[in-house]
Amino acid sequence: MLGRMMFMPLTIQSLIDHAARYHHETEIVSVETDGAKTRTNWRNVAARARRLNDALRRRGLAKGDRCGTIAWNNARHLECYFGISGAGMICHTINPRLFPEQLAYIINHAGDRVIFCDKTFLPVLAGLRGRLPGVEAFILLSGPDEEAARTLPGLLFYEEFIAAGAADAPWAEVEETDGSSLCYTSGTTGNPKGVLYTHRSTVLHSLVAATPDVLSISARDMVLPVVPMFHVNAWGTPYAAALAGASLALPGPFLDGESLARLIEAEGVNVALGVPTIWQALLRALDASGAKTTPLKRTVVGGAACPPALIAAFRDKYGVEVVHAWGMTETSPLGTVNNLLRRHGGLLEIEQARLRESQGRPPYGVELKIVDDQGHPLPEDGKAQGNLRIRGHWVVADYFGAGPGETLAEDGWFETGDVASISEDGFMTIRDRAKDIIKSGGEWISTIELEGIALSHPDIDDAAAIAARHPKWDERPVLLAVPRPGASITEAGLLDYFKDKVAKWQIPDKVIFVPSLPRNNSGKLIKTALRQEYGNVLSEAAEG
Ligand code: AMP
Repeated sequence: MLGRMMFMPLTIQSLIDHAARYHHETEIVSVETDGAKTRTNWRNVAARARRLNDALRRRGLAKGDRCGTIAWNNARHLECYFGISGAGMICHTINPRLFPEQLAYIINHAGDRVIFCDKTFLPVLAGLRGRLPGVEAFILLSGPDEEAARTLPGLLFYEEFIAAGAADAPWAEVEETDGSSLCYTSGTTGNPKGVLYTHRSTVLHSLVAATPDVLSISARDMVLPVVPMFHVNAWGTPYAAALAGASLALPGPFLDGESLARLIEAEGVNVALGVPTIWQALLRALDASGAKTTPLKRTVVGGAACPPALIAAFRDKYGVEVVHAWGMTETSPLGTVNNLLRRHGGLLEIEQARLRESQGRPPYGVELKIVDDQGHPLPEDGKAQGNLRIRGHWVVADYFGAGPGETLAEDGWFETGDVASISEDGFMTIRDRAKDIIKSGGEWISTIELEGIALSHPDIDDAAAIAARHPKWDERPVLLAVPRPGASITEAGLLDYFKDKVAKWQIPDKVIFVPSLPRNNSGKLIKTALRQEYGNVLSEAAEG
């Protein structure tokens, strides 16, 4: 043997141990379900996570068992992240905003043995209880609470539960390839599918997430994950924060613009992460409060296309940098992040701004390609559009419970369901979900692009472009737009606004003004519902 380096498994336990040892005083601020603000630090989070790991095993749960969580972003939920995975079990974060039938499906499919929950979600769990035969215990993330105990008889209380465990209990022995957490896709079509992350995929994702061109998280940051901890592990922020020794501000259920603005100001939050709708609300709150400045320096926006107007508004009004990112539950989620290269430094501001609108470039660890419908690679010239595929260290290989070969495309890559183009520099632009893109007379029209333009109009608050059936062109774009209160915008006025911004044949055939648009629990427009309601407006008009 010529020599050797140590081998140490990449585990979630090592992340929290590092934070506890080298960043013990670093603060974690948590807004609880009742609105109270509490303060803890990485030392306490680690000690209580160890107690939880011990208490779970004393209760008879074993390695690989699934423990569900239905909770907001708060400190006890953070302890569950590390305590459950540290015990060698699977932390299954459940999206409480799903329909009760979907919740029951997910909990039963995952085989959760216990469920940790915040008080907000007790009524729905109490209603579902009879349909969850595998769940042995519900544990409320709080101290004893009589009112809660009446809602769900037999309920256990987290503070009592972890008191049975020791703060210096050892972690379970795990392999780095063991499962550590589980998250289901939002499942707009068909049943949700589970993605089982491993210790290794999580640590590698965190290492890359913390780097400057990705989320850039350091020991000097106060990070606000507005993206829920039940949505792809809050984009991996809790793990990356432990790795980097960053402070966290966890907003609890208070996700409206005013509450976020207050939390940002009070805690000196300089980095925040969330979906575009959250930032639109924050912007309105900042505008309304007359605030001239904010401690916020950077927001990472993903989960849905970030309207260019949002980037410009944050930059021009508040000097906040908006970093556009793309990913999926299946990709842990970081797939691309938009940061410029050194040589772009010489470009004009307007050219730089244009480049920053795309979803960005893949960091080390993932690779992208676009293919045609037969799976043949397409050129990366910024123009060709095709089905986006991805592979990498933190990309799903098999869905939870799926048979071999059911998850990936024939070439071993994951088919994202997105249509994209990729530039020579690797900047990827999502044109649409494959099922949303408008196919007009054989040409494709990006609904994301039309929405981005509509949202840059000062009188428009929200917009959705959909494909409507058309007797001649198969499909034509129809725009649903929510006017800003008090605005006097007309259909002709809005259509006129598109004229110098897209080719003539891409301009919508019709605008319908609506009071609001349906969005799912992760901020995405529910276009299936919109197509159902408005998909025939053009063919009906032609017949009529
Ligand atoms: P989910 O697994 O629920 O996070 O959904 C993943 C999907 O969200 C992706 O396949 C995209 O269609 C969409 N998505 C995520 N980020 C972006 C983005 N920055 N721009 C456009 N679409 C996005």
